[in-house]
Amino acid sequence: MKMSTKKLQWLMFGWFFVFPFLPVPGYWITIGNYIGLYSIVALGLVLLTGIGGLTSFGQAAFVGLGAYTTAYLSTTLGWSPWVGLGAGLVVSGLAAALIGSVTVRLSGHFLPLATIAWGLSLYYLFGTIEFLGKYDGLSGIPALSVFGIDLSSPRVMYGVIWLCLGGCLMLVLNLLNSRPGRAIRALAKGKTMPEAMGIHTAQYKILIFVLAALMASLSGWLYAHLQRSVSATPFGLHMGIEYLFMAVVGGVGHVWGAILGAVVMTGLKSQLQDLLPLLLGSNGNFEIVVFGVMIVLLLLWSRDGLWPWVASVWAKFHPPEPEVVAPAIAPDGYSDLPRRARPQAGALILEVSDARKQFGGLVAVKDMAFEIRAGEVVGLIGPNGAGKSTMFNLVTGVLPATSGEIRFCGERIDQLDSRHIVRMGIGRSFQHVHLIPQLSVLENVAMGAHLRGRSSPLAAALRLDRHEEARLLFLAAEQIRRVGLGEYMHTPAGSLALGQQRILEIARALCTDPTLLLLDEPAAGLRLKEKEALADLIRQLKGEGMSVLLVEHDMDFVMGLTDRLVVMEFGSKIAEGLPAEIQNNEAVLAAYLGGVE
Ligand code: ADP
Ligand code: MG
Repeated sequence: MKMSTKKLQWLMFGWFFVFPFLPVPGYWITIGNYIGLYSIVALGLVLLTGIGGLTSFGQAAFVGLGAYTTAYLSTTLGWSPWVGLGAGLVVSGLAAALIGSVTVRLSGHFLPLATIAWGLSLYYLFGTIEFLGKYDGLSGIPALSVFGIDLSSPRVMYGVIWLCLGGCLMLVLNLLNSRPGRAIRALAKGKTMPEAMGIHTAQYKILIFVLAALMASLSGWLYAHLQRSVSATPFGLHMGIEYLFMAVVGGVGHVWGAILGAVVMTGLKSQLQDLLPLLLGSNGNFEIVVFGVMIVLLLLWSRDGLWPWVASVWAKFHPPEPEVVAPAIAPDGYSDLPRRARPQAGALILEVSDARKQFGGLVAVKDMAFEIRAGEVVGLIGPNGAGKSTMFNLVTGVLPATSGEIRFCGERIDQLDSRHIVRMGIGRSFQHVHLIPQLSVLENVAMGAHLRGRSSPLAAALRLDRHEEARLLFLAAEQIRRVGLGEYMHTPAGSLALGQQRILEIARALCTDPTLLLLDEPAAGLRLKEKEALADLIRQLKGEGMSVLLVEHDMDFVMGLTDRLVVMEFGSKIAEGLPAEIQNNEAVLAAYLGGVE
């Protein structure tokens, strides 16, 4: 369940602001500075790994880029640290965009491996380049100052570091609760669902990779001017792994887990470094071993890290409230987002001719031909394995056709990506639901409204998107009420019954403003009452001029609902006609009953 822990979060954060004003020893301030610096990097990892699903071991290299850029510019060239900050961000951002564009499209373990390679090679570069001081590094880096005020004292730097962290936190939180943020949250679920909502997954992956690198670079800049010297050691692969540890320990899926992880790991490390040599009687980095064991235990007992656990204890005393709430009335009184032109009733909208899909030797769809007219509800039925879902995937662009043509409103779509197809007005649900279980019904449905807005990630981070965001959430809320899930608006989607999750997907598809709606086995797992409600909804949509292609296994469900049925068996069309005709068709009965009378 999603916890609202605003108070806890700000208490935690506020405490760190009060802390330097207390008469604490200087050593504590140093630890606090490091926690702040680490938290900034870990926050980027939460965005990248926990929320976006991309693992990076190379964040320390970006920290190094930020640190070395400002170190070089301010010592060798005598430039202002503020120029160093800008230059460091540009260098790291460009490097991340370059690596990102090469690697994030590749699936699986490619990105983690690439980040390891990147982390290692940059570390050796830092250590061998002449003008970066080789292994001695660069020293004599000036302290920061603003308007002539010197910021060199560690207590003052503490304030600077934590202000930067606070700023990053605000920006990331704003970004996550927005249209681009929902696109980022959808990434972890693979490509199919987000692309079907029109989300350009590769672009968003590069975006979070760049954002995480920028935060790392900022941390490096702060580090260089706090430490006043840099060398390669703190930017090595071991630090890249430690950053990832921090994020995982704190809770890699939670923004506040970044700080928690940095606190726990930094505190623990300093304790262990004192304690372990005493216990073991010799010096060495034994804490690494303890960390390794800790990570394994944590992954066994609490996959999500410490934050959800802390949050649930807190929630016992402070009842949760939804974090994202749809406005009761749209800003203009009505959801007036522009809608696409509707085709005239009866106009031909979908034409499938000789469509074929082959998986190696298996012909899953064999020269299928059928059409759909505006305002029609067509059922595509057939026994399991007949090729219905594959046909569905050809129309929705999840798979390209091997041969044949599919046209939507006159345009060829058989080789287009799902991202382009949804843009043209084909909305869909999934046979196996694709939603983000921990997000609310509202946030999940709002993912369908992605193409209805245009606010940029920057606008979202700065909260300049609030007007549009309110309209998008209102639109999502309207669709949720329309499908009858109004009372579950703020419930985590994962806690709905399976039937309701399918209905949720219809609401999400409706947000894309489709003229043709494709539903893959929407009645599977529904109880009789729910089936009746779903049939009513489909009739209502038809009344509004929507065309629907219903892929179903359940003949009874489609009989009273559809205008026409197309029946498939072994990839081919074996019959087409009115439901009443199909009911008595010998070939169909044979296919369903396996030839038994
Ligand atoms: P239905 O939805 O009617 O139950 P499907 O379209 O899912 O049927 O499957 C039709 C046939 O194609 C099945 O034999 C299935 O095993 C095969 N098939 C479906 N998808 C793939 C794939 N990605 N790779 C290989 N075979 C597949
Ligand atoms: Mg299927």
